[in-house]
Amino acid sequence: MSEKKLNHVIGGEHVPPASGEYFESTNPATREVLYSAARGEAADVDRAVQSARATFEDARWRDLSQTKRGHLLRRLGDLIGEKAEELARMETLDNGKLLREMAGQMVGLPEYYYYYAGLADKIHGDFIPTSDRTVLNYTMREPLGVVGAITPWNSPLTLTTSKLAPALCAGNTVVIKPSEYTSATILRLAELALEAGLPPGAVNVVTGYGVEAGQPLVDHPALAKISFTGSTATGARIASATAGRFIGSTLELGGKSPNIVFEDANVANAAMGVVAGIFAAAGQTCIAGSRVFAHRSVYDELLERVTERAARIRMGDPLDEATEIGPLAFADQQEKVGGYVDLGRAEGARVLTGGRPSDGGGLGGYFYEPTVLVDVDNSMRVVREEIFGPVCAIMPFDSEEEVVRLANDTEYGLAAGVWTSNLSRAYRMASRLEAGTIWLNTYRAMSPMSPRQGFKSSGVGIEHGTETIKEYTRLKSVWVNTSEEPVADPFVLRS
Ligand code: NAD
Repeated sequence: MSEKKLNHVIGGEHVPPASGEYFESTNPATREVLYSAARGEAADVDRAVQSARATFEDARWRDLSQTKRGHLLRRLGDLIGEKAEELARMETLDNGKLLREMAGQMVGLPEYYYYYAGLADKIHGDFIPTSDRTVLNYTMREPLGVVGAITPWNSPLTLTTSKLAPALCAGNTVVIKPSEYTSATILRLAELALEAGLPPGAVNVVTGYGVEAGQPLVDHPALAKISFTGSTATGARIASATAGRFIGSTLELGGKSPNIVFEDANVANAAMGVVAGIFAAAGQTCIAGSRVFAHRSVYDELLERVTERAARIRMGDPLDEATEIGPLAFADQQEKVGGYVDLGRAEGARVLTGGRPSDGGGLGGYFYEPTVLVDVDNSMRVVREEIFGPVCAIMPFDSEEEVVRLANDTEYGLAAGVWTSNLSRAYRMASRLEAGTIWLNTYRAMSPMSPRQGFKSSGVGIEHGTETIKEYTRLKSVWVNTSEEPVADPFVLRS
């Protein structure tokens, strides 16, 4: 067990686990143990939810002006900006993603807090002019209460922020259960929230495993809402666990996104878009463009360009500036990715490049080579199921009609890319593809200002933008009688 022990952050305190037990977190590039984190369970979750509820009801938070809430979020954004380097390094050590990428994410992260800081004093209801001029009707947008946020390991701070910033902006308090693979930066975030002046209990973190700590959070009777990012399988479990309690849930789930290259595209640009779409972050992103469709007339050229670049991707230490792909996040991920590639081979796929696990040139970690599969089709599991690794399947098509059908023939609907120089076609495709985010001649663009939503098995509810505020508030309708006339007897018929 590691010497370095991290405890929950509950009510502004570092709280040891009720069970006294900890679990280890390791560096996936080297398998070295980094630290131990508190192994949370129902008792810890209960303490965190009670603390969040007490803060929610405390006048110092409840009656804080919306402008001041915005100031606190802005201050938290500033602190994250000041600590960007430290946070990026912590995330890279924990999940193996490139330091370059995490540093970029951390530099962009304050923008999320600034965006919702600016929005905090713009949350309001409406005046409704009903037909009776003496009756005033207005609506209020109120916070929900305690929001539970359960997040994955692939971009821990960014994906947690997508929930935390709007939830606090709207006046809620939050209990976060981070992924068991990446507890460190989320605990640090809770410390920074306190430093920024948020009251103790506004941001609580209970670390631990999904079934032991995540499930009790979902099941807690005092929870007003659950906001989850993770796999479709866990999302489905959460949806059924909350269904009978009528609390809201925002679910951001898995994907198997198509990246479509038409014959009129700039193929060199499209090839870079395909490479970025699937090999960035070793394919461990929900929006990975894992199904590539290329028009038959540019299929060979695209294959050549993508395969050539994939074979040259420099794999190694994610802390090294020259590295282009790091390890997968943990042993099971490496096994799962390898298992899918072997399954693809057994189903008849041909591996053009990659297709093997690696130790990262002696580092000892959980690496997997960037892999391109061909001779595949929509009936195969490697094309239908989310692999969440650096594996893309490239398939030819002959017509726009055909590729729309093939691209939409999936249970997922998170994102889609289209490469074409024909504006009319781009416009048509944007409307016909069944996905919540469409990229035309680009891939992976994202902003806190832009709302996003998964279609089909990719999720329910909206994150980012002004739209997400509705997910963290409830609407109240207030009626006021302004008439000075006596209130009529309801049983006397008016003539
Ligand atoms: P996961 O579903 O295994 O875990 C996500 C979180 O849920 C973790 O914190 C985990 O501990 C917790 N959890 C697991 N079982 C639980 C249960 N029964 N009750 C409550 N909580 C539970 O997912 P993962 O492997 O951490 O993340 C990868 C998945 O996340 C991929 O499918 C990916 O596509 C998806 N993802 C989606 C988005 C998006 O915005 N749509 C973004 C990133 C990742």
